[in-house]
Amino acid sequence: MFNDQIALYLNLATTKTRGAGGSLSWLTGNEEPRIEVGHSTSQETQCMVIGSSIWIANNEDVDTDFQLLFLNRIGVDSYPKLKAHVEANSIRLLPSHAGRINVVGGSRPGEKLMARLTGTENRTPALADGFAMPVQQAACQSYSLSSVNAPPASGIVFVKGSYQGAGGENEHAEQKLLAAFGHYLRGYGTSLYSKTLDVSGCKSACSTCRGVLEAVRERLRQAPSRNRVFFDEPDMVNHRGEVGMGAAHPHGIKALDVDHYFPN
Ligand SMILES: [Zn+2]
Repeated sequence: MFNDQIALYLNLATTKTRGAGGSLSWLTGNEEPRIEVGHSTSQETQCMVIGSSIWIANNEDVDTDFQLLFLNRIGVDSYPKLKAHVEANSIRLLPSHAGRINVVGGSRPGEKLMARLTGTENRTPALADGFAMPVQQAACQSYSLSSVNAPPASGIVFVKGSYQGAGGENEHAEQKLLAAFGHYLRGYGTSLYSKTLDVSGCKSACSTCRGVLEAVRERLRQAPSRNRVFFDEPDMVNHRGEVGMGAAHPHGIKALDVDHYFPN
């Protein structure tokens, strides 16, 4: 469930920074630094943990561009550092009043979900002093789905680009991650150090993504690599439903070509 919180943190950080005109004041307490945030509705952020590495994608790549700059600027370039940062700073993303967290009925569903995950639902804890910016910037990696190379197998990797598939023009984050994993298997064969693929996000899978995730899960179960795919943990699905973030099923979502990425 904590990986879902990481995805939610990055998603809320994107919208919060955009709403502040690119300022990280919600994190640092200062107007500087500022980071360029492009236009997007920031529908969804997803991440997938493979061994000690975490891959991150968004429905809209402009959000991914921001999140890469953001983590670099705050000096976060490994999964352990990202976990520690999210653990320490998640509540800064919540609405506040007079220096205290104040999530109310009218708050956005994502904020209500974060309040629930951080144990601040129905509580108004005081906000601590701002996050001290590190001197050293980090260097997270970016991977394009148009690359002929396999994605990196360590650190934080932001996955962008377009996957092959059919049924619509809009591409969803979790399927970008699966496409990257198909490239990974093609590049490295079956000599993976991790058998478990944990796909996590803000929202539960839509019907198109669910169908693809289930097909890939079955394909990998039988493949030589024998990876096990996990997504939509039942407790998390319940939390989402209770804050008004039940699964949406939009039309026009491209379904990944499973045979292409995970050939028999
Ligand atoms: Zn989807």
